[in-house]
Amino acid sequence: MTTFLGTPIPAIPGRGNLRGSEQFPVAAERALANTQLRANVGHATRTIRGKRLRAVAECPDWEELRLAGSAIKEDVMARLPELLTQLEANVTARGGVVHWARDADEANAIVERLVRETGADEVVKVKSMATQEIGLNEYLEERGIAAIETDLAELIVQLGNDKPSHILVPAIHRNRSEIREIFRTAMPDPDVELTDEPRVLAMAARAHLRRKFLSARVAISGANFGVADTGTLAVVESEGNGRMCLTLPQTLITVMGIEKVVPTFTDLDVFMQLLPRSSTAERMNPYTSMWTGVHDGDGPQEFHLVLLDNGRTNVLADESGRSALHCIRCSACLNVCPVYERTGGHAYGSVYPGPIGAVLSPQLTATTDHDDPNSSLPYASSLCGACFDACPVRIDIPSMLVHLRARAAETGAAGRGTAAAMKAARWVMDSPTRFAAAEKLSRTGRVLGGRSGRITALPYPASAWTRSRDLPVPPKETFREWWSRTREDGK
Ligand code: SF4
Repeated sequence: MTTFLGTPIPAIPGRGNLRGSEQFPVAAERALANTQLRANVGHATRTIRGKRLRAVAECPDWEELRLAGSAIKEDVMARLPELLTQLEANVTARGGVVHWARDADEANAIVERLVRETGADEVVKVKSMATQEIGLNEYLEERGIAAIETDLAELIVQLGNDKPSHILVPAIHRNRSEIREIFRTAMPDPDVELTDEPRVLAMAARAHLRRKFLSARVAISGANFGVADTGTLAVVESEGNGRMCLTLPQTLITVMGIEKVVPTFTDLDVFMQLLPRSSTAERMNPYTSMWTGVHDGDGPQEFHLVLLDNGRTNVLADESGRSALHCIRCSACLNVCPVYERTGGHAYGSVYPGPIGAVLSPQLTATTDHDDPNSSLPYASSLCGACFDACPVRIDIPSMLVHLRARAAETGAAGRGTAAAMKAARWVMDSPTRFAAAEKLSRTGRVLGGRSGRITALPYPASAWTRSRDLPVPPKETFREWWSRTREDGK
């Protein structure tokens, strides 16, 4: 079992990192008690939020861009098989090799085989959510192949034997002095003069990684986009580590979720405006690497593209849930989410935390069982709607959360208690007389609130609610009573 900030992180069962081992409320309660974690995540998300708002405000056509991004994604989902075969044909025509992986096991096995064929036992990696999702690093490590993360934050997470807690800033839960300690302890050749100054820490990471870049024969990347009509792959990043991985080694293996395909270069243009402002609050990202097949004497001489399903076609089949596949992994929804800001990312269990994780992870894992930790994720939200406002491709996450809650109640994933409570609520609300009686009865709860005006503990089964939330006491007068008192006719 690994730890961060002294808190144990439970092992994730099964292949891949799409679910944790405990329900969100349990993990969140532990995270909330960690004041250092809350301070680190709160400070970081507040800073990114402010910067993003300023970057977006500079764009007079931001709403039009969002609409365009959403429309392109809808078109992609409607034509996914056609676009993927077009992408495959164009990658192949330009000297690349395309592999199809149904799930994490297949994708991991393909990558392992490709690495073994080169004779290498060490690979460098560009930050990639798809490879984290399938647990590639762990898989390769178990088989004697070292996968070195080259993104600074990913390196911090890897050296700290930790788990990422944010899509874009995986070490968001760490502060500078913690990072210095990780470098001192885990780097093979730590600088004794290492301070917690950001520049000094970055220089230490740079020196460590430079040796890896120059000796690596194989690189593994994800892809932000794959352009169907040219076979071009694109990675956007901020540190230049991606550029080194994508150009120096002899062999490049890219693992891409099938939803990342876009029809044309013109479509890519829209996302290249939406993504940097939404993620790092930059007008354009510092490094955009694009490659199309292989070229004699220039860059990797072998290129493999692994197209990953891993539950995506299941998500596509759900009309109300499929827009979760529109996500471009900018992380804007995480940074505005009041739940994420307080719990951080580990509480979600999956590599996809925050609002998008709450809708994507249960769908990718086809969760229908109450005991599955992902069954609690659709409830990890206050439904405030901030995630929809921030999303550059207008994914209506709040509506999807409600949809998933309804599905959980239907399939039993919400648990017997929730299903019984919903049934009782329906019985009460079906009849005006019963509803009025229930309103009057609820007034007896006023005595439980005491002077604070909040009910903090109720007996079972209502204790399931008050264990993690307070209830305001019912008002002295119900709405109906107020209505008839203030209307002349009393009706
Ligand atoms: S759901 Fe939207 S805001 Fe959240 S990470 Fe995906 S694209 Fe960004």
